[in-house]
Amino acid sequence: MTRVPQNESLVPREYVEKLLRASAPERTEDLKILWDRYQPEFYVADDGAGVMLSASKKRVVFDQKTMSVYWLLSYAAWRVLDCYSPAILCALPPDGLAERLGLDPRQLPLTNPAGTTIEAVIRDDNGLAASEPQFEELIYSARTILNAKEFLHDTWPSGIPFPGAERESLPAQDRATFDLACMSTAFAFCHEIRHVMYAKDKNAPSSRPDEELACDCWAREFLTAKLGVYAREQEWNYEDILGKRSMAAAVGIFVLYESSERHGDAGSEDYPPLADRMDATMRNTPLEPNHNFWVFYACVLLGILRRRRVTPNLTAQSAEELCALLVDKIRETS
Ligand SMILES: [Zn+2]
Repeated sequence: MTRVPQNESLVPREYVEKLLRASAPERTEDLKILWDRYQPEFYVADDGAGVMLSASKKRVVFDQKTMSVYWLLSYAAWRVLDCYSPAILCALPPDGLAERLGLDPRQLPLTNPAGTTIEAVIRDDNGLAASEPQFEELIYSARTILNAKEFLHDTWPSGIPFPGAERESLPAQDRATFDLACMSTAFAFCHEIRHVMYAKDKNAPSSRPDEELACDCWAREFLTAKLGVYAREQEWNYEDILGKRSMAAAVGIFVLYESSERHGDAGSEDYPPLADRMDATMRNTPLEPNHNFWVFYACVLLGILRRRRVTPNLTAQSAEELCALLVDKIRETS
């Protein structure tokens, strides 16, 4: 059900630009040009039950509660590594896996021989009985907050920083998650900005689901396409930064899944199937097939399947291939 925003107030342009610049410094000039041409306006509305983040014409409207829930879900998304990395890593061939992941072989959390199916590892994984309920509890909190009419501070789970927390005051692990949460919000904002651009240029794709996919693709392009030159200028490792931005996009997919209505997974008149959105955002990411990003993304996908009580009986030749198989599974079970 579409919620009508109430009492909107304009968010200063600097605030939105700052978030986007922090997530993609190489796009600072492009952002200026984009703002001058399209003049997107961001508004914050009163909190209400359900999600509020949408674009119409030149306006993007969101509410604080939705942003807090996205934030909380971004933190929850990080827990998939604790829960599912043993199953994902065991499902891959052993040769050189640790090396390719940049780990000491003794650091690999292999609970079963490599090449064991995800289903078999999960069946045996005693650790999962402790880690998975914690992950699900965070998601439960996020959904409770989302469904409430107003934000109730005492429903916020302990141990998760509030969205307004100062980055520098957080422990190192939380800082990395903080950055991912900011970047995944930038993905969501870029998606909405593309809707504004289509409205102004009057050239939106003919169907609503096609427009959604095009907005996903544009957000991904905006946040990754100029990264190579930027990384060279800054003498940073291109794969490392692309890996981080891509992880943030995977977090965004997870947030989208957990904050939208389940019956939308298979697609509707307005939205494409979730699996198509995953492909639009992630497929063909130019990273080595066993890059950390693919392992993380596979954990996110397995997390989504486990939320539906589906445990796939899969192995694969690489983490990238495993992701493709898991997306197929999501498509089949939507
Ligand atoms: Zn959209």
